[in-house]
Amino acid sequence: QPNQFQIKVVLLGDSGVGKSSIVVRYIEDRFYEDLEATIGASFLSKTIELQNKVVKFNIWDTAGQERYHALSKMYYSDSQAAILVYDITNRRSYDAMKQWYRELKEFGPRSLMIAVAGNKEDLVENEEVDMNEAREFAASIGAIYKKTSAKTRYGIDQIFREIATKGKYT
Ligand code: GDP
Ligand code: MG
Repeated sequence: QPNQFQIKVVLLGDSGVGKSSIVVRYIEDRFYEDLEATIGASFLSKTIELQNKVVKFNIWDTAGQERYHALSKMYYSDSQAAILVYDITNRRSYDAMKQWYRELKEFGPRSLMIAVAGNKEDLVENEEVDMNEAREFAASIGAIYKKTSAKTRYGIDQIFREIATKGKYT
């Protein structure tokens, strides 16, 4: 159907930033204080209606550890979109997120919709990365920027919706 399209989305970022929690919140509308660590990658999908289109997200949640970088390439190489996640209370995770961007730029597909998610927005009082800095970085790479909280659901639907509306998919 012409009004139906699929978007393969991969989540990348350091371990512990909340990638799996974002996916679980988006798909199941649940939050776990102590989610089991992802091994390798897991796959979930969700179909939404957007204006007069039907969009199916095929979501790949990866493990962020260094040793999985080679593996991650399998997931992002044929993706249409990537969500680069960092934890707003953890500066190191922000630097790691930028490293993921460099990897995507070097080895990823040429046309890729990128969204940067500053997750754990509910812990904003412990913020270590200034939002403007992150937003400027996202703008500089042509990416969407959103603060999210898997815990409160803040920004979760919006980031996926923007991925669908701002990218060019067929
Ligand atoms: P992943 O390794 O990137 O997949 O991270 P997880 O989804 O496993 O989350 C790591 C930890 O952070 C878990 O204890 C989650 O409950 C917690 N977490 C994830 N997202 C949020 C959030 O938005 N707010 C808060 N307060 N905790 C979160
Ligand atoms: Mg995980």
